[in-house]
Amino acid sequence: MSTDHRRVRTRPFMFAASLLAVFLVLVAPGAVLADTEPEAMSPTERIVAELRESPVHIDPSFSSALPEERAGALAERITDSRIPLRLLAVPLIEGGDWSGDADHMVAAVHDRIGGRAHYLVTDGRSVTGHDFGTESAPEEQRAFYSALAVSYELGYDAPAAEKVERSVEIALSDDPYGTYEELVETRQKGPLDWMYSLGPGGYSALVILPWALAVMALVGLGVGVYRWRRPRAVPTVPQHAAFDNANLARREELARKAGRELIEFGERIGAARPHSDDPGATEALRRALDAHAAARSVHDRLPDEGALVDVAGVLVLLDMAEDHMARATRPAQKRKTSPLRSHCYANPLHGTDTKVTKWREFGGLNDIRVPLCAVCAKAVRDRTRPTVLAARYRGREVPYYEVPKEESVWAATGFGTLSDDLVERVLRGDHSRQR
Ligand SMILES: [Zn+2]
Repeated sequence: MSTDHRRVRTRPFMFAASLLAVFLVLVAPGAVLADTEPEAMSPTERIVAELRESPVHIDPSFSSALPEERAGALAERITDSRIPLRLLAVPLIEGGDWSGDADHMVAAVHDRIGGRAHYLVTDGRSVTGHDFGTESAPEEQRAFYSALAVSYELGYDAPAAEKVERSVEIALSDDPYGTYEELVETRQKGPLDWMYSLGPGGYSALVILPWALAVMALVGLGVGVYRWRRPRAVPTVPQHAAFDNANLARREELARKAGRELIEFGERIGAARPHSDDPGATEALRRALDAHAAARSVHDRLPDEGALVDVAGVLVLLDMAEDHMARATRPAQKRKTSPLRSHCYANPLHGTDTKVTKWREFGGLNDIRVPLCAVCAKAVRDRTRPTVLAARYRGREVPYYEVPKEESVWAATGFGTLSDDLVERVLRGDHSRQR
């Protein structure tokens, strides 16, 4: 009823509606109150209220994908297990509630409930797992590992209901982490499965193996020749920011690496001589010195822990310094072949082997064109979110580029991929003010 009021656009209807409202207020005040109460609740509060009744919350927009009987069966299974697991099927739209981010949504919901809990969340595409109040041991991360396991087991294209049911099943099992590990192992030997399918005979393996090796060597040679012939970033320039994603959590190690490379680069640039009497080279050297100074200024203000974004920033600035120095020390005619590299926009720690790619975030309306590494570009093509670099903002982990631009030089410049004034911003003190 109250939503009908808001949809009425034309005056006569509005008039009739207000008459009706007056009538309802006068005649049936109780009915009006009951009707408006859920409207006043935020989407988070509505979910929290439902979770008090059942461990499963299915948004009405998913009622056909996850019909009531199936949802009811899941709820019963969860309740019987006595494991504090909750299942949320909620549309997540970029720019909508919780910025369209499952992490935000779950954090908001859990803030109001508290305690130890595991959440499985689906937005109709994928399932993610979130654990609260548990030990950091992987065995305790039921939701996280069951969601990961399902993405390995069923792939991206499986129907949402199937993924949800399977992830609940794994999350309630004795060892979700073990299941995940097994799946990873099978996945890793996947490429050689065709050899196993030849049967157990050692003979066939013996016959096949040399041929397989020969083929692999030829393929390797082909790739090598291709890499050697294609135009590419200058390989002699060290890459500071390239770092395996699996090591993301090792902030300390990265910070040490940054400190070491700052000093080492400082020594090298101190000894560098720009190509003689060449204003372009002198300019390039000045820019290298600026980028190095910016890297040092961010590094000097690194907090004792956290701030992985800042550590990444130091490494990116060092890469910029390297590029400018490479230009400064090259003859003018070769300077053009010494490009300024672009880091992966989603996460600069993925390195600079990137291609400009069209990226539309989930539910977003606008495409942006940004450099992405091959893995992130594939994720974007598959309509999944790449592993983005997270930043802490107001007590939450968010993709670094979602921090308001006034509060982060990294968000404002995409680590230099969106605008080329990152060094200038750091040197004029934007970053230290933001800290
Ligand atoms: Zn990437």
